Amino acid sequence: MKKTPLEAWIRQRVQPAGEEMLRRRLLASYQLEKLRETVSYVRQFNPFYRELLHGAGEVTNLEAFTALPFTTPADLQTQGMRMLCTPLDQIERIVTLQSSGTTGPGKRVFFTREDLESTVEFFRHGMATMVEAGATVVIFLPGERPDSVGDLLAKALTQIGVTPVVFGPVRDVAAARAEILKHPGCCLVGIPTQMLSVARSEAAGAIAPGFVHSVLLSTDYVSRAIEAELERLWGCRVFTHYGLTETGLGGGVECAAGEGYHLREADLYAEIVHPVSGRPMADGEEGEVVFTTLTRKGMPLVRYRTGDRAMMLTAPCPCGTVLRRLGRVKGRIEFEVPLHMGMTVSMTDLDEALFPISGLLDFTASVAQAGGRDQLHLSLQVSSGDEERVARKALAALLHAEPVARLFREKALSVGSITFDHRGWFTSGVGKRRIADRRTGCAYLEKRAGFHMPKFGMASPA
Ligand SMILES: [Zn+2]
Repeated sequence: MKKTPLEAWIRQRVQPAGEEMLRRRLLASYQLEKLRETVSYVRQFNPFYRELLHGAGEVTNLEAFTALPFTTPADLQTQGMRMLCTPLDQIERIVTLQSSGTTGPGKRVFFTREDLESTVEFFRHGMATMVEAGATVVIFLPGERPDSVGDLLAKALTQIGVTPVVFGPVRDVAAARAEILKHPGCCLVGIPTQMLSVARSEAAGAIAPGFVHSVLLSTDYVSRAIEAELERLWGCRVFTHYGLTETGLGGGVECAAGEGYHLREADLYAEIVHPVSGRPMADGEEGEVVFTTLTRKGMPLVRYRTGDRAMMLTAPCPCGTVLRRLGRVKGRIEFEVPLHMGMTVSMTDLDEALFPISGLLDFTASVAQAGGRDQLHLSLQVSSGDEERVARKALAALLHAEPVARLFREKALSVGSITFDHRGWFTSGVGKRRIADRRTGCAYLEKRAGFHMPKFGMASPA
């Protein structure tokens, strides 16, 4: 099995030239040194961090580092330019993210030219997992604007002799299919539900198994069901990428083993912490993903809480690398909808239950209350003429596919309605997938209101 190409790249950056193997011990001391540098850099150049880290000790070891306070998406919203470490004229790109369901200013993330180049470098090495010089990659991600994710990816591919075709998010399945058919043996990069629709929709037919060489799915989380279905329909390898704007758009990518993300460990330090107490979790324990940037110049982030649920895998990767693996990301913790008796329902669970149903292109979900009980409402996007069959299968999946089936069996949830959305599947393709919570004045909601409280790590005096 081919070892992740990220290892050779990271080795060059952390070890003296000429050494064949990356040594974990040297990577760990590189990371500690970069953590120390980053903390001292933000203290020097940034008023927000100067206040936040006031009274905190020096980063002499990892224990001292995990005693530092967290930063949060709310800080990005409210502090804005106060989190900048360079003059504004050195900023090449500002990404504003409007979190769904909230009002007020969006989160703003600032990048210098050097920061963007660092992402291009990651894309260049990460994409070598699935393509080599001479290949063509059709990019179904936003790429119109300079330095958008699709544009940076295209730059990276050009540098390794791969031809990028920036198509943008899919708005017309037939047009997407026509583009794919121009490039036999191509690799596709896209948003999971969009790629599923291209593979399943009648309009997308005629892409024979084996025509597409590989697919890279990129978003905040990827359901196993979509990955499996694309591999089945197109007869190709499917890889997944995990990245947030805050991680510099790129974060980590699966290797040939196909299980868990290898991270750009020379640029990012990842921790898993308990979502409520903030205490560090051991490898193999699920919690919230926290990142610290190690080389970011414009807006470094120290112990940034992503809100994403995942764990660090304990077993070494079958590809033979010493890089760590972040396990499959299960979506935003705050998007998990609380039900009674401490149970929750998440879009990730619904995705795994419903996407195996052939003919289902996409769906939206909401929870509402009727007669004091929580009810799930689904709106399905289905190939026309197939509605009744898909609805029947969807109902059966809710009642029988674990872990969601338990919620219905234990009466934490009942099925309110299953309807059809004829507006076109792409309406929900680009935004974050989450269950809309339409309940008001419900007791479990208070629990969630307190979700993001702990700002401080365990050992912090605060
Ligand atoms: Zn691997």
